[in-house]
Amino acid sequence: KNAIEGKVIFLTGAGSGIGRATALKLSKLGARLALSDLNIESCRETAKQCAGGPHQVTLLNVSEYKRCIETIKDAIGYFGRIDHVFNCAGINPTARDLVDCSEDYFDKLVAVNLKGVYNVTKATIPYLRSGSAIVNVSSICGIHPHKQMAIYCATKYAIIGFSKSMALELGPKGIRINVVAPGYIETPTNASVVAGEEALKKTVEQVALGRMGKAGEVADVVAFLMGDESRYMNGSVVEVNGGTG
Ligand code: NAD
Repeated sequence: KNAIEGKVIFLTGAGSGIGRATALKLSKLGARLALSDLNIESCRETAKQCAGGPHQVTLLNVSEYKRCIETIKDAIGYFGRIDHVFNCAGINPTARDLVDCSEDYFDKLVAVNLKGVYNVTKATIPYLRSGSAIVNVSSICGIHPHKQMAIYCATKYAIIGFSKSMALELGPKGIRINVVAPGYIETPTNASVVAGEEALKKTVEQVALGRMGKAGEVADVVAFLMGDESRYMNGSVVEVNGGTG
């Protein structure tokens, strides 16, 4: 029996990319999943592709705190408990100078990428217990500065500060919280970033392994961070970027 088998795991952004790949991985390991996403149709499709079950599918905008509370309560009603949490919902914006970023754009990125993590973490803590794990998604943009990505970078740096501080708060309860920081991963949203051979070549040139990552390669690390083999990791940031300068 692996450490994930039989666990109940709550995921945000489960309808696409890294969230979907992680759902598939965790379901193969025998977890039961509370899958949530702003896009209910794609979330249902994720559930369909998952192994085992039963899995729950919920429409959730992570930027709405009240909805997060209700959704977590629903998941508790359905499964009786939540063991682990994967905060993956996020917006990968296209690059633009700060002068071209509206206040709405700033508010939206902060509301989804940062406040979403706060909302779901806060809503789930009362139900977690010793042995539980939270994994938050930062980015290579949370580790190094990136041109034309100031606001996105700010949210992804903030997730690391939040998670490391929460690790100190939750550690005494036996609850671990860690961060995965992906590099250039092939997912629907960043398809626009690497559209065209020239853009793809430029991206891949920055990666020592000479290729973009696959969503499943991030999912493997998330499963590790929820499992028993990472039991002494708390407040850690794991970069999954193939060696990106
Ligand atoms: P994706 O667009 O494929 O998936 C993101 C999912 O989040 C979508 O299903 C979307 O509907 C959902 N979502 C968006 N706003 C939401 C909201 N307000 N509430 C709930 N769900 C919402 O993107 P992805 O590339 O898989 O990204 C997943 C996470 O990984 C994001 O946090 C992103 O910043 C991060 N990330 C991605 C990469 C990459 O190269 N793809 C690199 C570093 C970090």
